[in-house]
Formats: sequence, C-alpha cells, structure tokens
Amino acid sequence: MIKEKISPGMQQYLDIKAQHPDAFLLFRMGDFYELFYDDAVEAAQILELTLTSRNKNAENPIPMAGVPYHAAQQYIDTLVELGHKVAIAEQMEDPKQAVGVVKRAVVQIVTPGTVVDSTKTDSESNFLVALDHAGAEYALSYMDLTTGQFFVTKLSDFAAVCGEVRNLRARELVLGFDLTEDQQAILGNQMNLLLSLEKEVAEDIQLINPSLSPVEKTVAGKLLRYVHRTQLRELSHLQKIQRYEIKDYLQMDYATKASLDLLENGRTGKKHGSLYWLMDQTKTAMGMRLLRTWIDRPLVDKERILERQNIVQVFLDSFFERSDLTESLKGVYDIERLASRVSFGKTLPKDLLQLAQTLGNVPAIKAILEQINHPSLAVLIAQLDAIPELHALISAAIDPDAQGTISEGNIIKTGFDQQLDQYRIVMREGTGWIAEMEAKERASSGINNLKIDYNKKDGYYFHVTNSNLGQVPDHFFRKATLKNSERYGTEELAKIEGQMLEARDKSSNLEYEIFMRIRQEVEKYIGRLQSLAKALATVDVLQSFAVVAELQHLVRPNFTASRTIAVENGRHPVVEKVMGAQSYIPNSVNLDDQTHMQLITGPNMSGKSTYMRQLAIIVIMAQMGSFVPADQADVPIFDAIFTRIGAADDLISGQSTFMVEMMEANKAVRLASSDSLILFDELGRGTATYDGMALAQAIIEHIHNHIGAKTLFATHYHELTSLDQELYHLENVHVSTLEKNGQVTFLHKIAAGPADKSYGIHVAKIAGLPESLLQRADHILQELEKQSAQVSPSKEAPSLLTNQQLDLFVPEHPVITALQDLDVYNMTPMEAMNALAALKQKL
Ligand code: ATP
Repeated sequence: MIKEKISPGMQQYLDIKAQHPDAFLLFRMGDFYELFYDDAVEAAQILELTLTSRNKNAENPIPMAGVPYHAAQQYIDTLVELGHKVAIAEQMEDPKQAVGVVKRAVVQIVTPGTVVDSTKTDSESNFLVALDHAGAEYALSYMDLTTGQFFVTKLSDFAAVCGEVRNLRARELVLGFDLTEDQQAILGNQMNLLLSLEKEVAEDIQLINPSLSPVEKTVAGKLLRYVHRTQLRELSHLQKIQRYEIKDYLQMDYATKASLDLLENGRTGKKHGSLYWLMDQTKTAMGMRLLRTWIDRPLVDKERILERQNIVQVFLDSFFERSDLTESLKGVYDIERLASRVSFGKTLPKDLLQLAQTLGNVPAIKAILEQINHPSLAVLIAQLDAIPELHALISAAIDPDAQGTISEGNIIKTGFDQQLDQYRIVMREGTGWIAEMEAKERASSGINNLKIDYNKKDGYYFHVTNSNLGQVPDHFFRKATLKNSERYGTEELAKIEGQMLEARDKSSNLEYEIFMRIRQEVEKYIGRLQSLAKALATVDVLQSFAVVAELQHLVRPNFTASRTIAVENGRHPVVEKVMGAQSYIPNSVNLDDQTHMQLITGPNMSGKSTYMRQLAIIVIMAQMGSFVPADQADVPIFDAIFTRIGAADDLISGQSTFMVEMMEANKAVRLASSDSLILFDELGRGTATYDGMALAQAIIEHIHNHIGAKTLFATHYHELTSLDQELYHLENVHVSTLEKNGQVTFLHKIAAGPADKSYGIHVAKIAGLPESLLQRADHILQELEKQSAQVSPSKEAPSLLTNQQLDLFVPEHPVITALQDLDVYNMTPMEAMNALAALKQKL
C-alpha cells in the first residue's frame, strides 16, 4: 500500500494529537475548531455534527467534523459532561503573517474535574480528586478549581478511599500509581470515574505545607501538577492546602447520606424533599455551597458546634436586625467565583461591577452585626473585610452601564483617566465641529443641499449633486465620482476626521489597557476576597439556620456528656413539611445511658422508618450547629451514623439486595463504636425468614454485647421482641394502632413494649388489592398461625429457630467428633480401613 503524503498542517495535527491521545482535540482552523480521524467520527455522533472528510478524493479520506469557534463552549461542555477530556489547540500567530503552517498549541485541556467556565455548571462544587499511596496507607487530595479550595487527608485502606471519593461526588480521579485490576474495576467501571495517571510532582511551598507527611505532600503535588498541566493558565486563586481527618466530622458513608435524603431526595434525585431543601434559606451562592458542605460534614467538636449554635441563637433573638441582614445578603454575588475568574484572566466589566456591589454591601452587613452587639459575633465581624480601596478603585473606574465585552468600549468611567477623557472630547465634539463646518461651507458656497456624509471607504466628505457642481469652491478636492453626485474633501475636514479617528482608535485601546491594569490590581486582592467570601457564606448559612429555626419551630439542642438521648416530641422535619405540620404526629425518643437499643415493631406503614430517620436527622442537624425539630432535645455527640434503610439493589457493582444489606450491616458491625448511631430497618428481610431472623438476632446480640452503639432496630420479626429478657440494654417499643369495629387506624405514635400483631393484609387492602385475594390471604394466615402454634406452643422466639433450619450450630455429631480425633498419619492402611468400618457402623 502506498502511504499517502500527509500535508504539513495534518502533520502538525498528528504531532499535537500524539501528546493528547486521551482527549478530543479541537484544532483551531480559522473560524472553526476541527476534529479529525476517530475524534471526528465519535464527536460527530455525540454532538450531532456533520461528518465530512478533509481530502475527499484521496484513497483514504480523513474524517473531519467542525464546530464554529464562537459556539464551541457548548460543544466542549457536552463532551466534558459526558466524562470526556477536550484539548483545545489555538492558532498562536496571525495566519496572515504566518510563514508556512500557522503555529498552533494546546492552550487548555478541559476535563470533568477541572471544568470551570462551563455553560452547564451550576453553583455546586466540582471536586477533582487525586490519590496516592505509601504501602498500605493512602493519601487523598482534592481541589475545587472554581473556588481554589485545596484539601488533603490520609486514609487507612482502599474501602475508605472509595467511601471518600463517593462522598466528594468526584467525576475524575488523578492517580499517582498504577491500580491493581480489582481497584481499576471498582474505580473505573463501577464508580465510572475518569482516571488519569500523574507521576510527576509539582512543588509549591506557598500552597503545599512542607510539614505534611511525605505521601500527603506527594499526592497534593501530583494533583497540582495535573492541574497546571491541563489548565496552562494563571491559577493565582488556588488556596493554601488544608489538612483534614475523616474523624473530624460525623462519619456517614454515601449510602447513609443517600438513604437519609440529605442533599437530594433519594427517590427523585432532586433537591425537593431533602434536608438541604428544608434548610436552604440562604441568599447567596456561596452560602448555598457552604450549607451543602455543612450538611455533608456535620461536626464532632463540641466547641465548634456551640460557636455556630450561639450565633443562630443571637440571630433568632434579633429579629429586625436579622431581616435587614437577609436583605443585605441579597446584593452579594458569588465573589469566590468572581475571584477565580480574575485569576483565570476571564474577567468581564460586569464581574467587576458585581464585585464592587458586593464590597459595597459589606459595611452594611458589618454594621448590622455590630448593632446586634454580641460577643459571639466578634470573629465574624473581624473577618468581614470590606476592602474599601478595591471598592473605591472599581467604583471610580468602571462605568455602571458597561457592556458585556471588553472590546466594545465605554467600560471606563469619565474622569478616571485624563487622556481617555481627552479622546472622548474629540469624539464627541468632532461631530459638532463637522456640523458647524457643514453650515459654514453651505453658506459661503451657496449650495443649499450641501452636506457632510461618512462612509467607510471615503471617510467624511462633502456631498455635491451634479446640478451644483459649478458652485464647488476652489479649496474642495475631489474624493470620488458617482453617477449623480461628486464627493469632496477639504483640508480642514481631513484634519478633524484624522483627530476623530485617532481618538476612537486610541480610546478603545486605552480602555482595554486600563481595564487590564485594574484586573491586575484586583488580582492582588484574591486572598482577601476569598476570606471575605468565607465570612459572608458563614453569615449567610447561620442566618438561614435562624430563619429555618423560626419557620419550622426548632429548638436549641443540648449536648449531654452521658450517653443519654432525650428528645421530646421530635419530628422528621422534611416529612412534616411535605405533609403539613397539622398531620404530623411528633414522637419522643428516649434512651437513657443504660439503654442502647430499641427494637421497634409495628405494622407496615405505621412510621417505624420515619421514627428512626427522625433521630438521625435531629443528630445531623444538631451537629451542624443548627436547631432541631423537637420540643426539647438532649443528645450526645455521635462519631458516626450507620444505616441500613430501604432495599436498594446495587446492580452496577453486581450486588443483590441481600448482599448490599449484609455489606452495610458488616460495615456497621466492624466500624461502629459506642459513640455511634446505628439504624437498621428490617435487617434480614432479604432472605428466607429463619435465615433473616437468625442473622438479625445475632447482629443485635453482637452490637449489644460488643459495641454498645445506640441502635434503633425496626423489624417485622415479632419473635425477636423476647430478646429484652436476655439483653439488658435493649428495650422494646412499638408503633401503636387503634382497632375499632374492624377498622384499623395507624396512630404513628411510638409506645413502650412490643407490638401485638402485624397488619400486612390491612396495608394490602389500603393498597387496593382485590377483595377475593385478600380473603384468601386472611385464610392462609389463619392456617399458618395454627401450624406455628402447634410447632412452637411456647412462642419463644429462639425456639422457632431450631429444627426448621439447616443446623449449622448444633453440637457436633459423634461420628464427626470421632473423625476429627483420628490421627490418620500415624495409622496403617489396615487400621484406617477398620476405623472407617467402625464409623460406618456407628452411623
Ligand atoms: P414499613 O414497615 O412498611 O417499611 P414503616 O413502619 O417503616 O413502614 P414509614 O415508612 O415510616 O412506615 O411511614 C409510612 C408513612 O406513614 C409515611 O410515609 C408517612 O406518610 C406516614 N407517617 C409516618 N410517621 C408519621 C408521623 N409521625 N406522623 C404522621 N404520619 C406519619
């Protein structure tokens, strides 16, 4: 086969593509970004572009697809949203001046974890995560490139790594080492992360604290290196790395957060119906992001929790000031993101105006806090740095009516720069001078319809119709001849025109220059702007807590030193808000320091899950520093919450419902401490009755005897309720029902003791199953109850477990014991034969 000659342009494409094999390469050619070869074929399909070819007549035409450069952003966003990388190669010189092939270079690689200026990003965080290890120990670092936040932590095993990556909702993982096949399968296939290898380390002592451990420094350095390698632009907004420990926060894995509907409703995936939905009364994008972080990571340090609580209390006590505060926050823009736009060199006049408006609001916010005059606000007040010099600069420089782009002019205010003002006078007055000249020449020449016009080709000219040509004065010189008229110039006209054009040209250049100077000046304030952003976000979230406390009638929780839970008339605030406060039945949760476990029985649909979730939500809200939905709440500070709620297949990781259930139970059993909270909802339901019940009982006993975590265990296995006889720290509660004239009403009220019966068939009736079917079920139930009474007259729970199950745990059969005792290696073949015969005999 004859190899086709490759043009120098295509050679350049291939060279650049070879450096970015894992990215779609957008190759700038004039007004288009072109894609070639497989990139073109694939992108054409994803983006619905027309697939053409570069050299149609060649034997092997090169597939090609293109997007216009001005609309490229949306195409880039779509590719990145789908988890791809996009490398953007620009023309690095003016094609008109280029000798040979125009120079091109990649100016940025956009990836799912580094996307910052997407048309699709909302105000939520987007974390890029990096992973490295030293022996069995892992280090994880992550960054939000949009805000410049940068973190690092150490993790003890790979399971903890997966948990944290999930928690961060990462889409892209930078790996400092080669994964094993199993790890690859989990991170790449199951968790669907875009994986990028980074072996080089960037050093930056400004950002990466030298006192970190070696593996932490390495992982952070690799993350930084990857970011520099893909962004290829100024990143002065990156913040100093912050070290954290998983145990600095209330630990909850991803499944727990999902089953408690913390950030989104688990069923719909939407904000509505989540704790975040309930608690979001924030007024700024920064506050909203911080609220999400606080929900995601409640605290465990009492002092820090109380600091937040105190401020919420102060805001609640100062209704009028708080209303003013809420109003003032409405004028606060996302300065955290504005700061990063400044760093990226992407600032528009509008951004600076928003920045100035925000800074302008800070003194008012500060004054309100000062007016409240409470010591707990002192730190926040000190952090509210209004940066008056920056506000003054932007206010003096940027025209409030400035247009969207920098090149359109009219960005800089009059009075800011003398030279610019001068140009503007010329431009404005020039029009007046021309009008004067027109009047003067018309009078002196006697040509009544003499007028001055302008077009691009001839500039300013006197327009003289053919009938008046005889009256044209001598100092006019001809510029152009048309069919019915002639165009003339004069020296004076040319001079004014020159001044006007120069002024127009120079003023727009000068405006651009001044804007760039201001941008550079703003860049010096990025660190202070980020601190201000944090303070404003904190004020916003805390005022939001106060507003929610008022709207939802929340109370301030107390943290008990003993391990006592005393929640009086607690409510699940989200269920309450959805169904309306009148319909919701509050429930108290009381577990004194000797009671660790509650076994909750009651009919289906009666409110067992709601009762359990209610406690978890109260704990989470309390540890966030918020008030809680109850009349009074005393709770200990928990270190972790483990849940097994709801039946969710994890088909992607190939786990059945029951397997997931057991894995979650395993996590709780292995990781929980006496300071943890465990919620198990119908554990064991996913397998045969006796298997499930046996496991449930064993798990309860294990937690009771070896862990001592506060545990709520809802079950339909009524047989388990007799466990309170043996397990000192366990008590029974049930959801009460009212049965009157054959009608059953679920009271949704928790009461002491076990439930006396279940109402599954009743619930099936509510669900609308056919009457004949229900009658049949009732009949079968009666039969089963009769049989069960015969098999186990005592109705003791554990006795149910014997005989009917494969007896794995009965005392061993004598034959087995004898077999075990045989010393086979010291027997002759004959002795062995005899022993075998004897055993057979015994059997
Ligand atoms: P199952 O055993 O079938 O899982 P369950 O006992 O766990 O049911 P929940 O899921 O907690 O029941 O509650 C079922 C429904 O009952 C809720 O969706 C809600 O509408 C209502 N409900 C639960 N608790 C209350 C309450 N305290 N006040 C009012 N309504 C409630």
